[in-house]
Amino acid sequence: MGRIQAGAIPRQQKGHWRPLNHSFSDKRIQRHINPIERPRIVSASSQSVHSAPSSANSAETKSVDFIRTIINEHMRTDAYAGRVATRFPPEPNGYLHIGHAKSICLNFGIANDYSGACHLRMDDTDPTKESMEYVESIKQDVKWLGFDWGDNMFYASDYFEQLYDYAVKLIQLGKAYVCSLNEQEIREYRGTVTEPGKDSPYRNRSVEENLDLFRRMRAGEFPDGAHVVRAKIDMASPNMKMRDPLIYRIRHAHHYRTGDKWCIYPLYDFAHCLSDSIERITHSICTLEFENNRELYDWILDTLEVEKPRPHQYEFARLSLNYTVMSKRKLLYLVEKKLVSGWDDPRLPTISGMRRRGVTPEALRKFCESIGIAKANSSVDMAQLEFAIRDDLNQRVPRVLAVLRPLKVIIENYPEGRTEDLDAPLYPHDVPKEGSRLLPFSREIYIEQDDFMENPPKDYYRLSPGAEVRLRHAYVIRCDKVVKNDAGEVTELYCHYFPETKSGEGGEERKVKGTIHWVSAAHAVPAEIRLYDRLFVDEFPEDVDQSLNPNSLVVLKDGFVEASLASAEPGSRYQFERLGYFCADSVDSKPGSLVFNRIVTLRDSWAKKAAPEKAAPVKKESQPKEKKASSAPAPAKAPVMELTPAQEERFKRYQETMGLPADNARMIASDEALANFFETALSSHASPKSLSNWVVNELQRVLKDANIAALPFGPEAFASLVAMVDDEVISGKIAKDVFEEMLSTGADPKQIVDEKGLKQITDPSQLAPIVTKVLAANPDNVTLYKEGRNNVLGFLVGQVLKETGGKASPKLINELVVQQLNS
Ligand code: ATP
Ligand code: MG
Repeated sequence: MGRIQAGAIPRQQKGHWRPLNHSFSDKRIQRHINPIERPRIVSASSQSVHSAPSSANSAETKSVDFIRTIINEHMRTDAYAGRVATRFPPEPNGYLHIGHAKSICLNFGIANDYSGACHLRMDDTDPTKESMEYVESIKQDVKWLGFDWGDNMFYASDYFEQLYDYAVKLIQLGKAYVCSLNEQEIREYRGTVTEPGKDSPYRNRSVEENLDLFRRMRAGEFPDGAHVVRAKIDMASPNMKMRDPLIYRIRHAHHYRTGDKWCIYPLYDFAHCLSDSIERITHSICTLEFENNRELYDWILDTLEVEKPRPHQYEFARLSLNYTVMSKRKLLYLVEKKLVSGWDDPRLPTISGMRRRGVTPEALRKFCESIGIAKANSSVDMAQLEFAIRDDLNQRVPRVLAVLRPLKVIIENYPEGRTEDLDAPLYPHDVPKEGSRLLPFSREIYIEQDDFMENPPKDYYRLSPGAEVRLRHAYVIRCDKVVKNDAGEVTELYCHYFPETKSGEGGEERKVKGTIHWVSAAHAVPAEIRLYDRLFVDEFPEDVDQSLNPNSLVVLKDGFVEASLASAEPGSRYQFERLGYFCADSVDSKPGSLVFNRIVTLRDSWAKKAAPEKAAPVKKESQPKEKKASSAPAPAKAPVMELTPAQEERFKRYQETMGLPADNARMIASDEALANFFETALSSHASPKSLSNWVVNELQRVLKDANIAALPFGPEAFASLVAMVDDEVISGKIAKDVFEEMLSTGADPKQIVDEKGLKQITDPSQLAPIVTKVLAANPDNVTLYKEGRNNVLGFLVGQVLKETGGKASPKLINELVVQQLNS
């Protein structure tokens, strides 16, 4: 594929033609004129193996992930009579995001590969947060991604009767009982990782009594929380999930599908495996945090002796992307607090947001393929997603001209009233598509403000007084006169054009150093342009409110697009040459009042921003212009949930005396068990803010259905983990791994850190040799960097980080890498 080699360089063009967001000050960069760059993708993160699928449709040898390897083995041994059935089981309590896309591509992809089926199942067993709106959005997103569930659309809520019967059966088998301890007591009885739990005093209720109570629970005789049904397994099991887990609870709540028919609802661990069995799923694929639940999954199905061969659960690493958030709770918070315009805000990682922004389903699928399926959690760089988007758009969209921040140019020697229709190709030569449009040229045009400098540095190759540039697809012009307003700002340029330099008619012979884009003033169409940036400034946002990027949306109201876009259909995509890929907004854009979203820039502009680069004089000029832009609408401060007076008191105390951010304070205050945990933790580590962040961001995530008492560690251990982060003993990233380990083994965090040698490297002298080693091992990338490809920096930093096992701060690594590269 030659597209990467040639990029968008027009064949006849001699001048430099490159994206705007490029530093022109650095000589090294000027040799590099390829706007399309391919970041090296580190495939080591995916533990895929190479082998030929034995029974997959495709005969070709391709990379097989560990799940497909297992399936291949099942095919070979005929474990499921050649059948493969997977499922994608979202809870309809929010819109899908790109993490779900990974799971969708995996589950539906497997079904496609093995001519099996993938079921779309609404995992709707929690009546309080679910709705039909979410169900519809989920269906739309899965379809848009290009997958089809055929007749296999299911709802866990359709199984409520069957699940009830299964619970009755467990009770009859003496394997479940009605427990009347309250939440707090259940937690106390559960023990800790180091101590076994105690049997509930209700554990030996007779089968008759249990059946009677369960029937009356269903009949609505008891209030919420009065009783629960628990599986009778082993209160001393090393796996906390096996210590008599809850399987049913009372919830007097209206369900969006079953209405008020039920006031008891099954918990995830009970409903999920049985739904899989009812649907005769073969491979039940979920994310790693469910690893400990697998034993329970197996226990329930085996104890109930469901039909064989029964489904089995497999876990893979969830997708996490930097500079964004993927928890539905956080996304909902952003939407409810109106910090974004809705679930489809183009800055969100939701599928609907990315669709609206202009990302194609093909790009998302390719991205999901490129990241692989791993067994260990890691985070993927946003640059990798952007690369997949660019790579896809490069092959499919027409190139057109638009000016975002116009500066009027009058071509004095061009006859007044004359218009020339230039025949301009829509695609570069390396894109296998044909077509051209007529591009009107006339005496008055607009160019980009950034493409003119009155006092340029010597290596500035765009327009300046006396200098010549080529207008894309048109003529060479020279700037003769600069007009300014009273404030000293440049308002107009008077230029001279050279008729013999017309593009496409041999006029390219004339040597100029730069080529710039333009539109004809009389013909251009006004357009609003929305430029997006990362939603968060922190790589791994902890506190959503505090990490928001104030410049994540910049709206330019004075832009112009070339005449051929006058009737651009909502949703149509283009490359605005030198500016990026754009999409006519599917909600707000109409012919006559055009609105374009920037999908992605032409190159990774972030790798550069992150790196301390040599000063770019051009920037000084372009910076203040941002001010003209209006940024995102001011966030509305609306409360999210109602609090009881006691919770309200806590909420105030957390905010006022501890200084917690409002969303953290509210979240913790609204949940008594969580609040107790938090306050106990505080007595071991008096840092309310960081503790609250950990409670809200990490703990909450694993506590969805589970009771806090089920945690294999107590608040003290939790506090000691957070303290290590605060004291910079370990990095935040490592801390998350330690946390996962605590969840699965219950081990003490200090012990984990000691045993595994996870202490953070903060000493530059310790880090420098590792940097040297990595640079020596990657000579190609070092050369690329020296040629101006700043975006290899991210790769190199990532390699060093990997080499240290994630133990050093990326910031420090970045500094050292840049230092050594420039030395
Ligand atoms: P929450 O964000 O509240 O934790 P969830 O993302 O787990 O919720 P579900 O609706 O339960 O929401 O997810 C449906 C499926 O998508 C599950 O099988 C889950 O494992 C998978 N999934 C969710 N997030 C990711 C992710 N980031 N990467 C890969 N798969 C994911
Ligand atoms: Mg889930």
